Amino acid sequence: MRIDVVTVFPDYLAALDLSLIGKARQSGLLDLRVHDLRDWTTDRHRTVDDTPFGGGAGMVMRPDVWGSALDAVLDGDPDGHLVIPTPSGEVFTQRHAESLATEGHLVVACGRYEGIDARVADHYRAAGRRVSELSIGDYVLNGGEVAALVMIEAVGRLLPGVVGNPESLVEESHGAAGLLEYPVFTKPPVWDGHEIPDVLLSGHHAKIARWRRDRALERTAARRPDMIAALDVEDLDKHDVAKLAELGWHVTDGTILRIPGAVAD
Ligand code: SAM
Repeated sequence: MRIDVVTVFPDYLAALDLSLIGKARQSGLLDLRVHDLRDWTTDRHRTVDDTPFGGGAGMVMRPDVWGSALDAVLDGDPDGHLVIPTPSGEVFTQRHAESLATEGHLVVACGRYEGIDARVADHYRAAGRRVSELSIGDYVLNGGEVAALVMIEAVGRLLPGVVGNPESLVEESHGAAGLLEYPVFTKPPVWDGHEIPDVLLSGHHAKIARWRRDRALERTAARRPDMIAALDVEDLDKHDVAKLAELGWHVTDGTILRIPGAVAD
């Protein structure tokens, strides 16, 4: 996969030289290129922004500079998928990461100030290009660089060969099971008086799997009830249904509903 990032702070992306993504770059699994937006300015001051039409606070990033930069970076590649981090975008989830990980070429446009002139996204969409305006959460950052780091790490670790043991991607939070991951433990078996659950030492695979599934259901019900409500009933066995009932959720007619008054709202 090739990923181009365009930013006014290329140094911000230096973290992508570290850890698994850094290794993926070195080994050629990920062709990651970081570009300075100011390289496409034409004035002496290397200006990338101007005052907003209609008035108001702050500055807006100029479409002409972005257009030159993105045309150059996309380099005529019709499959280049433009990703624009913005707090007003669709919320980026593991599903977006999975989908983006199947692409051959992503171009991430990092905004600053009040963001990028809205005509930029419209222009590339109208030209038939895939454009995703994505938010990494309901808060406002100063720039798109941190969001780009988040998305590139989430996408990059899904590329074959990036995470050493692909099994470790299978049971993760937000994976196909639609649950948060169960709690995990390692040595020593007793730390500061805290023991690990006996079942994890039993060597009994089926019991361990059931214990983990129950903890995942409990944790998800407590922390992310929206994920319980979104579970596919077809994926639940009778033990899951019993566990969910214990947790205050009723599985019926293909839907999962909270039992009124069963748990503290
Ligand atoms: N005025 C914009 C608004 O209210 O929607 C916020 C602009 S923000 C200060 C500047 C840049 O930070 C954005 O263009 C975007 O690139 C990035 N950014 C801020 N919050 C973000 C978020 N939650 N997700 C993704 N990108 C974000």
